[in-house]
Amino acid sequence: MSLVETKSLIHSVCKKTGRDPASVTLVAVSKFQPMEKIRLLLDQGQRVFGENRVQEAAEKFPPLREEYKDIELHFIGHLQTNKVREAVRIFDVIETVDSVRLAKEINNEMDKQKRSLSCFIQVNTGGEEQKGGVSTDKLGELFRFCREQTTLHIDGLMCIPPVHEIPDLHFALLHKLAGELSLKKLSMGMSTDFDAAIRYGATHLRIGTAIFGDRDN
Ligand SMILES: *Cc1c(COP(=O)(O)O)cnc(C)c1O
Repeated sequence: MSLVETKSLIHSVCKKTGRDPASVTLVAVSKFQPMEKIRLLLDQGQRVFGENRVQEAAEKFPPLREEYKDIELHFIGHLQTNKVREAVRIFDVIETVDSVRLAKEINNEMDKQKRSLSCFIQVNTGGEEQKGGVSTDKLGELFRFCREQTTLHIDGLMCIPPVHEIPDLHFALLHKLAGELSLKKLSMGMSTDFDAAIRYGATHLRIGTAIFGDRDN
C-alpha cells in the first residue's frame, strides 16, 4: 500500500461504520525508516509521526522540524526513565505512560523544561508478562495518581494486542476502560488490524509497514 491508499481505506471503513473520518488520526510509524521516505510523506502532507526509540527520533526529527513546524511526534515505545529528559524535549505526545514512577519522571521533566505534552496510558490488555503497559487492574490507580499528583495531561489510552490473538476483544476492552475514565482518545490499530480498531472507536491508528513498506529490521 501507500499513504494515499491507506488513507482512502481508513476513509471507507469510517464511512461503513458511521465514523467521521476527521475523528481518526493516522500516526505514521517511521521507526527504522530512512529520512528520504519520511520526507516523501511530508511532501504528501503527512504531519503526525510515531517513533519507538528516543535516540533514533532525536537524530531524525529535529532537522525535519526546522522545515516543517507543524510536525506532531508521538512516542510509542517503552520509555526508560533515563531517556525521559530527551523524550520530553523532542516529542509532543507520549503514548506509553505505564507506571507511577515513569509518570513522576515525566512530570518533573515537563516542569523543568516548561513543556506540556499530551499523554496516553498504555494498557497491557493481554496481561503479557514481557509487554509494556499497566495491567487492567492497576489502571485506575495510575490514572488517579496522574490526575491528582501530577500535571500530566492524560488524554487517552493505548494498547498493543498480543500478536497471535484476534485483536477485537482487546480493542473492545480498551474502549470500555476509556469510557469508564471518561477518556476520549484511543490509540489502537496497526497495519493489519486498523479496520477493526476503527470499528471499536480508535482515534489514533499507528501504521508503519502498510505505508512505508517493510522495515529492514
Ligand atoms: C512498529 C509499531 C507499530 C506499527 O506497526 P506496523 O505493523 O508496521 O503497522 C505500531 N505500534 C507500535 C507500538 C509499534 O512499535
